[in-house]
Amino acid sequence: ASIDDQNADSGRVRVAVRLRPKNAEDFPFDADFTDCVELQPELNRLKLRKNNWSSESYKFDEVFTESASQRRVYEAVAKPVVESILDGYNGTVMVYGQTGTGKTYTVGRLGKDDPSERGIMVRALEDTIANTNSNLDFVAVSYLQLYLESIQDLLAPEKTNIPIVEDPKTGEVSLPGATLVEIQDLDHFLELLQIGEANRHAANTKLNTESSRSHAILVVHVRRSKRKEDNDASSLASSSNGDLPSFHMPIVQKSKLLIVDLAGSERIDKSGSEGHMLEEAKFINLSLTSLGKCINALAENSPHIPIRDSKLTRLLRDSFGGTARTSLIVTIGPSARHYSETASTIMFGQRAM
Ligand code: ADP
Ligand code: MG
Repeated sequence: ASIDDQNADSGRVRVAVRLRPKNAEDFPFDADFTDCVELQPELNRLKLRKNNWSSESYKFDEVFTESASQRRVYEAVAKPVVESILDGYNGTVMVYGQTGTGKTYTVGRLGKDDPSERGIMVRALEDTIANTNSNLDFVAVSYLQLYLESIQDLLAPEKTNIPIVEDPKTGEVSLPGATLVEIQDLDHFLELLQIGEANRHAANTKLNTESSRSHAILVVHVRRSKRKEDNDASSLASSSNGDLPSFHMPIVQKSKLLIVDLAGSERIDKSGSEGHMLEEAKFINLSLTSLGKCINALAENSPHIPIRDSKLTRLLRDSFGGTARTSLIVTIGPSARHYSETASTIMFGQRAM
């Protein structure tokens, strides 16, 4: 993509909606099932039915029916972000929705037995590895969990309360102390992801919480050394004094991709919660609410993006808006039983556009 193509889409959040296929969850009382959504993928529209008399239609950048493949979702939503990472820009792919609607399936699925089931994390790494081949290039990942405004290392779970550090000059965000593993090949990454998942599960079992209450964040660091012929004249302007041949000064591009499996968006009933549970309810609301505010501010071209309000948004600071590319997938289920959660997920996505 040229700089112009990049600028045309950067700064704006691309929003897709994905409908999960019906499953046993939708049939708690035998055949008692009513659908509340109707998709028109060719128009990128979704109709949400409140009842027989009232429905509302919404437009998205992409609308994925229950039969959309993992490959299609990746190619339409995440691949453009991965491509801009390879061009040296930062970016974020996030998945938002009620627990059980397919967030982890969409981003985190390993697809060990069936590669066609692979989710966005694996496909993004596959493409990144395939495009970084010089021995000076570098692909490394960190995998983290954010729970109760505290960051835990999923590759070394004894590391908790990892601080977020922001460079005051460049705005660059880093996580000193977080494990950073250089990826050799896709099998190596699959292994790490599996370890991370196991640690996430173990940590949550120990705390007696559900993984649906935490955000999982994969950070992919890419460093590419570009040779002279990879660059056009303009990007070589600084090295064109003729004294030093430019192959002595490879241009190093650093960029970062964040893939975020957000905590379940369902409203937590605070009335019955006490102590730990109440803290949890407040904090989970804080991160998602603050993310929603930032996304709205970005959509409205507001000069003030309230990025400092939560850990989640501070982490996103250099990979969200500006020259970064951002895609958001909102996931929903089909059942009318969850009408109000589905409606609120759709509204979250709409406010980002
Ligand atoms: P979440 O992470 O949002 O809580 P999951 O990704 O765990 O939801 O999905 C809930 C269940 O639905 C899982 O059993 C998952 O395999 C299944 N599922 C979700 N989306 C799809 C899909 N597009 N195709 C097939 N199965 C899916
Ligand atoms: Mg999940």
